[in-house]
Amino acid sequence: MRRLQDHLHDCSINTATLGFQAPIAEVIDAVARAGFGRIAPWRREVEGGDVNAVAKHIRDAGLSLSGYCRSTYIPANSEAEFRANVEANKRALEDAAVLGAPCFVMVVGGLPSGSKDLNAAREQVKEATAELAAFSKPLGVKIALEPLHPVYAAERSCLTLLSEALDWCDEIEGAVAEPQVGVAIDCYHVWWDPNLGVEIARAGKAQRILAFHVCDWLVPTEDVLNDRGMMGDGVIDVRAIRAAVEDEGYRGAVEVEIFSARNWWKRQMDETLKVCRERFVTAT
Ligand code: ZN
Repeated sequence: MRRLQDHLHDCSINTATLGFQAPIAEVIDAVARAGFGRIAPWRREVEGGDVNAVAKHIRDAGLSLSGYCRSTYIPANSEAEFRANVEANKRALEDAAVLGAPCFVMVVGGLPSGSKDLNAAREQVKEATAELAAFSKPLGVKIALEPLHPVYAAERSCLTLLSEALDWCDEIEGAVAEPQVGVAIDCYHVWWDPNLGVEIARAGKAQRILAFHVCDWLVPTEDVLNDRGMMGDGVIDVRAIRAAVEDEGYRGAVEVEIFSARNWWKRQMDETLKVCRERFVTAT
């Protein structure tokens, strides 16, 4: 298992952690100043601007991406809407390639409005993911399916289990030496899963672990969306999960991703980054 104090170049800041309180250029500089080597920006910070300039700024700051966040939700009520969602993701994949992202994180979407058919939503996501995988392969960007905690099944992700994500990967491309589709394992979403160890091993052996996200589950949690905790402040054994992931050979980034409206988003970026750096060492 890596000693993260010796691997800050592998530690990544998902920019949502900093609350989107400054333009991306300032965020990039703050992350680099804090000593990290990786960053995971969001489309809202990049789209509509000069993507090449953002990419150059990241490179010039000595950073590289751990991933690019995140997909437009897929499930739709009409074929036209479904196509529009797929196409929006293709445009984002092109930006991901310009930015040098190793993977594009897919939060796949829940039920389309008015629908109660979760399985139909899942079928749409699988179809779209297969198309996006074929599209993104020549771009050099992999597709990272991120299963979300089941509490989000209706509104954000009909994909809720790591086992399910791996089943979809197998369905889409079978067993291949260099997978184009894999998973983003986020501690917040999978820590409760009784099969977590088995599924991490399965993902590792198939070379499908493309991203690893950390934060903590606070007790009590006031808001499942925007009350995530800093590593060490909650009940997730983050270090044990990282050990399991790294035991499978994962050597990619360890990315902190904290949505925290009541705490971390109210703090200065430099302060949050300082605490992230401490907790990467003491609690991750
Ligand atoms: Zn995540």
